[in-house]
Amino acid sequence: MKNRKILLTEQEIPEKWYNIVHDMPNKPLPPLHPGTREPIGPEALAPLFPMELIKQEVTTEKWVDIPEEVRDVYKLWRPTPMYRAFGLEALLDTPAKIYYKYEGVSPSGSHKPNTAVAQAYYNKQEGVKRITTETGAGQWGSALSFACQHFGIECEVYMVKISYQQKPYRKVLMNTWGATVHASPTDLTEAGRKILAQDPDSPGSLGIAISEAVERAATDENTKYALGSVLNHVLMHQTVIGLEAVKQMEKAGEMPDIVVAPFGGGSNFAGISFPFLRLNLEEGRNIRCIAAEPASCPKLTRGVFRYDFGDTVGMTPLLPMYTLGHTFVPAPIHAGGLRYHGAGVVVSQLLKDKLIEARAHDQVECFEAGVLFARAEGILPAPETNHAIATAIQEARKCREEGVSRTILIHLCGHGHFDLAAYENYLSGNLEKHEITSEEIAAAIARIDTPAIR
Ligand SMILES: *Cc1c(COP(=O)(O)O)cnc(C)c1O
Repeated sequence: MKNRKILLTEQEIPEKWYNIVHDMPNKPLPPLHPGTREPIGPEALAPLFPMELIKQEVTTEKWVDIPEEVRDVYKLWRPTPMYRAFGLEALLDTPAKIYYKYEGVSPSGSHKPNTAVAQAYYNKQEGVKRITTETGAGQWGSALSFACQHFGIECEVYMVKISYQQKPYRKVLMNTWGATVHASPTDLTEAGRKILAQDPDSPGSLGIAISEAVERAATDENTKYALGSVLNHVLMHQTVIGLEAVKQMEKAGEMPDIVVAPFGGGSNFAGISFPFLRLNLEEGRNIRCIAAEPASCPKLTRGVFRYDFGDTVGMTPLLPMYTLGHTFVPAPIHAGGLRYHGAGVVVSQLLKDKLIEARAHDQVECFEAGVLFARAEGILPAPETNHAIATAIQEARKCREEGVSRTILIHLCGHGHFDLAAYENYLSGNLEKHEITSEEIAAAIARIDTPAIR
């Protein structure tokens, strides 16, 4: 009988983050200035981010040291456990071997503190007094509140209004860690007032909340901004997950054939998959890495690869990414963390180059998968995480049909303890399917006014 749980010691927490940009056959295209549309250098980001994070954003060094102070905070919950999903395998009656890496053991219940702690640390080093940010489902806001509290920095969170209403307890968690939380759009910023003038009942979106948080940081000298996904440095910080996972798989005497993770902006997907992609790029292995996204916000499977803004109002640099257009407001599905119009630059380039894959799932299918997982394995996954479980279940069923055994690694990036209202909705049969039409997608994409990328 093989072990159910594969653990590492504190000493095995990685000492460096892995920067996949070093190994990419095609490097990411440069960001463009939102006004002039000329390539911008790192100095353009200086009003928003501390210098060290800007350096990390543009570096092509393969390995970046994790500061001792950051590793020390990581020790509160890292290394995170990996499990063999014997229960799920049995329930699916599949020859596949299924493993999952569980990030729900962090203080805020997801992978987000891996980067929040690093970002708060570098801001503290450079004397920043306050950090603003946006949050969708509340997971990023909670993680940053925890990290800011640890390093004695003020934290101001713009929370997407629909989530603020659906998840009041995430707000309480942020308040407990000392943060101020606003329901976005607010009347505190130009960006928020502009949206409210157009639509007083706007449910908000991540893009709108980003506009508000960026504006606050850009207009106050002692305030910086932090992003919980999308950017290169954020994706790099998350690679502690995959670096641990590679060691754990080796300990189990296995290597995955398939790695699956849910996809919002790309940080948890990058975190688990980049260290495995490194093995593909360096050793010619053929580990399939699949990003699972919602059918109602399908930028990877139905979006276009274009320069687009990261926010709704158009204040951020233009980034080359898979996008549904920065004005796209997805349906208010429960996986709030996946309601973002675009994908990170690095993951977008990898998808363009066919080094990774993507798949979309409807939310009803995702909750079916999540409930199945909870019954088989005990852990209640976050609604975002359910997308990866849905992909893994499809792959495990394919193994049964084909009569082959493959090893599947699921990124269980967060627990769903704050999402019980969503589960209640599903269990009482009130959850709706939310697929968008090709016309809606075409209309949103038509509003992008940047030229196609050759
Ligand atoms: C934030 C979040 C996501 C989506 O963001 P990524 O940057 O794509 O990881 C997915 N799952 C959970 C649990 C999250 O908290």
